[in-house]
Amino acid sequence: MTSVFPRCLVSSSSSASFSVPNRPPLRYAVLGAGFAGLSVAWYLLKDSPKDVRLSVDVYDEIGIGGGASGVSGGLLHPYSPKGKLLWHGAECWRECLELLNVAETAASSFSTSPSPGDCNEGFGDFMVRRRGILRPATNAKTLGLMSDNARNCLASCVVETLDKEGAQKLVPNLCLPLNCAFYFPGAVNVNPQRYLQGLFLACQNSARASLGRKNITLVKKSIDDVLQLEGEYDAVVICLGSKIDFLASLTGKLPLRTCRGVITHLQLPETTLGSYPEGGPSILSEAWLAVQGPRSLHMGSTWEWLSRNHSPDVSAEEASRALAELLPKARAVYPEIDKWEFAGARAGLRAMPPVTSHGSLPLLGCVNQLIGAAASGGSCRFWVFGGLGSRGLLYHGWLGKLMANAVLCCNEELIPLELTSWKKNSQ
Ligand SMILES: Cc1cc2nc3c(=O)[nH]c(=O)nc-3n(C[C@H](O)[C@H](O)[C@H](O)COP(=O)(O)OP(=O)(O)OC[C@H]3O[C@@H](n4cnc5c(N)ncnc54)[C@H](O)[C@@H]3O)c2cc1C
Repeated sequence: MTSVFPRCLVSSSSSASFSVPNRPPLRYAVLGAGFAGLSVAWYLLKDSPKDVRLSVDVYDEIGIGGGASGVSGGLLHPYSPKGKLLWHGAECWRECLELLNVAETAASSFSTSPSPGDCNEGFGDFMVRRRGILRPATNAKTLGLMSDNARNCLASCVVETLDKEGAQKLVPNLCLPLNCAFYFPGAVNVNPQRYLQGLFLACQNSARASLGRKNITLVKKSIDDVLQLEGEYDAVVICLGSKIDFLASLTGKLPLRTCRGVITHLQLPETTLGSYPEGGPSILSEAWLAVQGPRSLHMGSTWEWLSRNHSPDVSAEEASRALAELLPKARAVYPEIDKWEFAGARAGLRAMPPVTSHGSLPLLGCVNQLIGAAASGGSCRFWVFGGLGSRGLLYHGWLGKLMANAVLCCNEELIPLELTSWKKNSQ
């Protein structure tokens, strides 16, 4: 198939020159159905002009949420561990909340019962739990800095400083060694599998509403080398998380380090009196507690650097090592954790980008040269959106939008330099 390389296809621009009758539809491949891939797919459909015919094939060897996204803790707020607003935190926060709404709306118009084979075990019934997040202060050295950061918080995600009494009103028996906690009432906890299913449904709804002009297909297939797709698509967007390094043409070429994380699922036995307060926030500390319900929570996470093990399955031995590491950290702020019982564990492999002066930023950009794709009029056909590190949920919305717009316009300059500068050292 002959590729068509449009000048710019975002809907705000004039689309007159692209709505040529009988022109074959533009074809895009998105590799990976995690946070990154589905966000790009959504914006390819949403931000392309209404009258342009376009089809998106999303490839995933496992299915929706088959990688780190599907097992992630789902904790979402725009701040660093010291409470500093992350790079472009306002845009990321806004865009991510927007995508959550999109997914919730799509799911509410459909049955919410999990489809057979989806990776939903151990999750609560919610897609987005809006109960805030509480971070007890545990380090006297950083307390001043955290208090300053709290004063400079986003109006759209405020940070309140609470004393022991205020914090214990939210979570009784919480332990506050420094009599201080930071509370993000607007922060949320996302059930990642349900969210991703909802977002894919929203993509399908968007395609359906286009009356045949747009199309999206999920292709359950493993891609070993992206060059096998050359010629078939107008652009290929690689969103393979930590497995990007397993692609033949990209192995060792991206500055990423892998890091395996185990999350444990704990339950409070029915026979135990009391339960986690219904409106109680999740807790961030050296170990975090992502609350799923009054008697169910996830405790995470471990950090096993340079692991190549991307299996979500956790052996009994790995689970008991994770518990031995996480329980003392959780107990230091929430002693009640000792009443909870182990109910399972899952794991994922993070793709960690280098630390820059702006923090750990994902890697975006056109990679034609890097993978040795044949030159074709200087057009960008192969793109990478990876290295979402430990904050993929926050980053995927805004960066997915930027990525999709760059692809539609075939213009890498639409991506901020901070996200493409990694390429200087990788050519
Ligand atoms: C334990 C743990 C806890 C986390 N908690 C949080 C959290 O609370 N908040 C937060 O923001 N982030 C969290 N993260 C980080 C977050 O999960 C990642 O940043 C994010 O999932 C990365 O998304 P992705 O789409 O880039 O990759 P992935 O989700 O890994 O998606 C890649 C997809 O590509 C598919 N794939 C891989 N290889 C191939 C191939 N060759 N062919 C076809 N398909 C393929 C996979 O099946 C997968 O579905 C956590 C991560 C871990 C491991």
